[in-house]
Amino acid sequence: MQGIANISVQELRGVGPKLAGKLSDYGVHRVEDLLFHLPLRYQDRTHVTPIAGASESIDLVIDGEVRAADVVFGRRRSLVARIQDGTGTLTLRFFHFTAAQKNNLKPGTRLRCFGQVRRGSSGLEMYHPEYRLLQDEGSPVEETLTPVYPTTAGIGQNQWRNLCAQALSRMQREQVGELLPASEKYPYELTRALQYLHAPPPGASLELLREGRHPAQLRLALEELVAHNLSLHRLRERQQREGAPPMEQNENALAKFLATLSFTPTQAQSRVLSEIAVDLARTVPMMRLVQGDVGSGKTLVAAGAALQAINAGFQVAIMAPTEILAEQHWQSFSQWFKPLGIDMEWLSGRSKGNKRANALARLMSGEASLVIGTHALFQDDVAFSQLGLVIVDEQHRFGVHQRLALTQKTAPEQGRAHQLVMTATPIPRTLSMVAYADLDCSIIDELPPGRQAVTTALVDSVRREEVVARVAAACNDGRQAYWVCTLIEESDVLQAQAAEATEAELRTALPHLKIGLIHGRLKPAEKESIMAAFKNGELALLVATTVIEVGVDVPNASLMIIENPERLGLAQLHQLRGRVGRGAQASHCVLLYQSPLSANGKQRLSVMRESSDGFYIAEKDLELRGPGEVLGTRQTGLMEFRIAELPTHNHLLDDVQLISDDIRKTHPELADPLIHRWTGAGQQFAKV
Ligand code: ADP
Ligand code: MG
Repeated sequence: MQGIANISVQELRGVGPKLAGKLSDYGVHRVEDLLFHLPLRYQDRTHVTPIAGASESIDLVIDGEVRAADVVFGRRRSLVARIQDGTGTLTLRFFHFTAAQKNNLKPGTRLRCFGQVRRGSSGLEMYHPEYRLLQDEGSPVEETLTPVYPTTAGIGQNQWRNLCAQALSRMQREQVGELLPASEKYPYELTRALQYLHAPPPGASLELLREGRHPAQLRLALEELVAHNLSLHRLRERQQREGAPPMEQNENALAKFLATLSFTPTQAQSRVLSEIAVDLARTVPMMRLVQGDVGSGKTLVAAGAALQAINAGFQVAIMAPTEILAEQHWQSFSQWFKPLGIDMEWLSGRSKGNKRANALARLMSGEASLVIGTHALFQDDVAFSQLGLVIVDEQHRFGVHQRLALTQKTAPEQGRAHQLVMTATPIPRTLSMVAYADLDCSIIDELPPGRQAVTTALVDSVRREEVVARVAAACNDGRQAYWVCTLIEESDVLQAQAAEATEAELRTALPHLKIGLIHGRLKPAEKESIMAAFKNGELALLVATTVIEVGVDVPNASLMIIENPERLGLAQLHQLRGRVGRGAQASHCVLLYQSPLSANGKQRLSVMRESSDGFYIAEKDLELRGPGEVLGTRQTGLMEFRIAELPTHNHLLDDVQLISDDIRKTHPELADPLIHRWTGAGQQFAKV
């Protein structure tokens, strides 16, 4: 490409090897990268506000003459200066100051200050304003809004401003490639958008800019989302080129297996099973996401897929995000597959020494056809003789890279293993288009027959005693209950402590009940035996942290209390609640919230009371919390955009899809430069 994309930042004034190095560490190598280094927000220094007309809590420029400056000994020593501008008086207050600073503020000196005005004990005040001495009357203000850039250690705000301003003036002379095909719907030019966003004119709407809704922002967000979508497609194409081992479906074997079950698959399960069967028989790797609400029976679908691969002579790896969930799979698959003579292996973080070595040897030799485990499956020394299918449960907890790393563990001449990803977090369509454009999607949109809706109530924690009484009544009736403790802290230790305290309290209140406690600090064997005791009905009440979120299946449990539900995302609450309502009795979930609830909190919890539809709940969660939270991708870094923001830019997504398709079909030469521009040379999607 011609033009500005090829000019190194070193060509700009003031950029020596040292600064160039820092910029490069930050991913800024070329002048074009600076143009796409967009401000986080803006300050308005385009006009001077008279003191009498100053509104509180916004940043303002105020000019005035110093009347007095004194060091005041109050609760904290401070330098206090009073300035006047003919309309009023303003107090400047500095808690950190030097003697020179005090001497500079002599009466009669004219100042230009920038900061936020507040109402203090001595009328209008500014704390720690930026200020400079004014030499002459009518000194010019800034011509444009002042950008505030995201930054990194060692590069100051003024440096960014200077560099980006230089980049803008280079942009006037050289070409910035317009990479989106011309469109009537989005006529805003790239150059104009960049100019506007780095240097918005006086009077530009700060509100629109803050909300990300300015047409210039929409123009760039559109391009960024298109680039992101293209990069996911690129990833997918690369994998497909590598090919995969075809596995014919053996209808008889499947029918025989299904006949051993105590139930018949739902229509939705059968449909998804046949979609997968078709994929697996092809010579390109399957990349399929199965979405199904909690309890919709995804495990059976996984089993059908695994059976097809194993019958065709391949090995299968099933990976779950937690030990408990992996164990649950181990139980289901043992029950289903051992009678069929399928040899299974287990691999988790707790597999050590000989046990682990033995497991690895059996995978390597091909003796074991199916391995179930956790992250431990990713480790380099885990190798297979004939890996053909990778099944990943609860996708949102793993990054794209982790799951792809596993599919590469197949023999090189066979290409890549087929990939099946299962998630119980219903992903809104809009979001899945962005986050999972690399996967085909199947939906299990039907629950097995006989499931009861869970009635959900919101109860203020001041009524805790009533709730405890309700638990007692349910348990005395022979039913079982969960009591879930939540904490915001990620710390296992604190969560465990909170759960222990609650368990102690409930033991005192309900001495006749058999109460168990489960949390992430327990050894896997302890967890397993407690879960087993609860499942067998030996325990009536299970106090738990959110570790029970995934997988656990106890049909006789029909009451769940969730403490401080306002701390959790709706998707997570939905998962938790899915643990009840699995048996014949009517089930209840009590959301025991701490008042006062914020308006948003109230709204979110009401969604739980009104709906049991995972997709609807996920859409609402997205609306009320944003995508990072919904997908849990904070950790995986999957959704870090520079300018695009969801849900603010949701309305662009249909067009993103259309434009991306158009580029792939009619302008394929634009794809690389777009991906490069927005995701940089070290970009994560094309790397794998
Ligand atoms: P999830 O989709 O949440 O992983 P599971 O696969 O754990 O759901 O299934 C939940 C429960 O429903 C399990 O006890 C499973 O055996 C049972 N189940 C699955 N499919 C059916 C079906 N078609 N009819 C009846 N029960 C089913
Ligand atoms: Mg499951």
